[in-house]
Amino acid sequence: MSKINRQEILDILDEYDKEDITIATLGSHSSLHMFQGAKTEGFRTAAVCEKGREVPYKRFGVVDEIITVDKFSDIVNDEVQEQLKDLNSIVFPHGSFVAYAGLDNIETIFNVPMFGNRDILRWEAERDLERKLMTESGVRIPKKITDPAKIEGTVMVKFPGARGGRGYFVASSTEEYDEKIEAMKKRGWIEEEDIKEAHIEEYVLGCNYCIHYFFSGLKQDAEVLGMDSRYESTIDGLVRVPAKDQLDLNADPSYVVTGNHPVVIRESLLPQVFDIGDKITEGAKKLVPPGFNGPFCMQTLVTDNLEVVVFEMSARSDGGTNTFMNGSQYSYLYHGEPLSMGRRMALEIKNGIKEDRLDEIIT
Ligand code: ADP
Repeated sequence: MSKINRQEILDILDEYDKEDITIATLGSHSSLHMFQGAKTEGFRTAAVCEKGREVPYKRFGVVDEIITVDKFSDIVNDEVQEQLKDLNSIVFPHGSFVAYAGLDNIETIFNVPMFGNRDILRWEAERDLERKLMTESGVRIPKKITDPAKIEGTVMVKFPGARGGRGYFVASSTEEYDEKIEAMKKRGWIEEEDIKEAHIEEYVLGCNYCIHYFFSGLKQDAEVLGMDSRYESTIDGLVRVPAKDQLDLNADPSYVVTGNHPVVIRESLLPQVFDIGDKITEGAKKLVPPGFNGPFCMQTLVTDNLEVVVFEMSARSDGGTNTFMNGSQYSYLYHGEPLSMGRRMALEIKNGIKEDRLDEIIT
């Protein structure tokens, strides 16, 4: 199926009454602050919700319209898309929206105007593209080990589709790598043909900082709006078990995100933080024009020699933005009043309308 033509989206946007825009997204992930922020900036809001999942949106009173669907993936159905367009909706993408709507559908059949860059979502989803973007932008990432025979020092081994880090493992030698691969095969977690898909990278020992940037297409600036660290099961539970008892548990560590902590980074590291944001946005402009547009997140580990290493990115609003629904230490510095990521997004739409430049930031 062919990709949606940008002109088709702009024609739909052209028909919208700009005085009567709705901000819409799937009721999940990081939508609460998007709805709250949009309402604060004077927009109507609409949540597409799976039956039973509307509770928080109703109870917190942040949505004007709830479009109930049997399953989240129905957001791409023709009738739901029509309802959204009838409301003059601009969709704010987030992790669950991309997962449920599906990348292929977003690229080919979902023609409701969205805030962001449709094309960059794939660069987050495919490990090779993500590495290309980061490497060509000059961002420090974990070194890749191409041959298990050449493992020196500790490495992390990742398999495609191992969401939540289930089935990731750590090894410190080729022998240990081979043993763990064998054990995974025995358990039926991987098949022989999966082995060549193993991605081996340097294990970065450090603390986790997920940095939430907002790239303003209107101002051409990467703002640092907040930071979180992940609270992951089982790894964060395992560290509460005394070391001598950890082996008895016979539990495989996994990294399923169950929540997030707000965090601030050592002030002397902020030049690196801005440098990463500037480099990746410049790189993205060249590789996936127009580049980042709106929220994105660089997931990092900071080592004891104070190097910020990026191990993953989100090319849309990341779940950790929920840590600053009422603004963060950093967003306060820009705006002097509580500013969530969602409100910043709504503000950009508002400015786009005011400056008659909405077409530049809609995809
Ligand atoms: P997923 O996105 O599938 O949940 P991630 O790539 O975010 O998986 O990795 C899960 C966790 O593994 C991260 O939160 C981080 O703590 C850890 N991790 C990932 N890559 C590395 C690495 N190179 N070195 C050390 N820890 C890592």
